Amino acid sequence: MTPPASAALPVVETFHSIQGEGSHAGRSAFFLRLAGCTVGCSWCDTKGSWPQQAHPLRPLAALAAELTAAAAAGAAFVVITGGEPLHHDLTALCAQLRGAVDPPLPLHLETSGVDRLSGRFDWITLSPKRHRPPLQELLSCCDELKVVVHEPADLAFATAMAAAARQERHTAPPQLLLQPGWQSSQGRALALEFVRASPDWRLSLQSHKWLGVR
Ligand code: SF4
Repeated sequence: MTPPASAALPVVETFHSIQGEGSHAGRSAFFLRLAGCTVGCSWCDTKGSWPQQAHPLRPLAALAAELTAAAAAGAAFVVITGGEPLHHDLTALCAQLRGAVDPPLPLHLETSGVDRLSGRFDWITLSPKRHRPPLQELLSCCDELKVVVHEPADLAFATAMAAAARQERHTAPPQLLLQPGWQSSQGRALALEFVRASPDWRLSLQSHKWLGVR
C-alpha cells in the first residue's frame, strides 16, 4: 500500500551535476537522492541509502529552495533517485518541486518499479531487477527501460522486460538501454555483443563514474 504523502522525506543527498547515464546523459541536472530501499541488489552502488532512518527528514519546501538555486545555476531538469524513491508517496514532492521554478523544470524519476507510481513525472527511467520484477504499471508507462547486465541471464531478462514494456501502452514504446554493471568485464562484453546485434537497443555507460564525479 502506498504510504501517505508527507511534507518531509528522508534524503541521502542533493547535488547539481551532469546526468551520467541513460538517454539524457551529458545534461545538467539537479539530483535528489531519497533514502530507503528494500530491493537488495547485491551489486548496488548506493547501499548507504538502504536504511531510511539513517538519513534526515528534510522539509519539501527546503528541497524546493535548493532546486530554485540549482535552476539559477543551470540545471535543466530534476532527477529523483534513491534508494527506491517509490517506497514513498511522491505526490507532494512533485507538486512542491513544480512550484519551485517558473516554468517548472522537468521532473525525472529513476525507479526499480516494485511499488505503485505516485507523483507526476515528465520522464520515467525504469531499471528493473531480475530478483524483484517490476509492476506492469511501471513497464507500461516508462519512457526508458534501462537494464543492468552482469551475466547472461540478464540479457534474457532484458528481452522479456522489453516485450512486457510494449504491452498495454498509452504512450510511445520506451527507449531500450543496456548498461554494463560497473567494473563487470563480463557485463561489458555481454552488453556490447547484444547491442551490436540488436538495432532497437542502445548502450548506456555510467560516464559520471568514468569522469570521477557524482
Ligand atoms: Fe540499490 Fe537501486 Fe537495487 Fe535499491 S533498487 S538495492 S538502490 S540498485
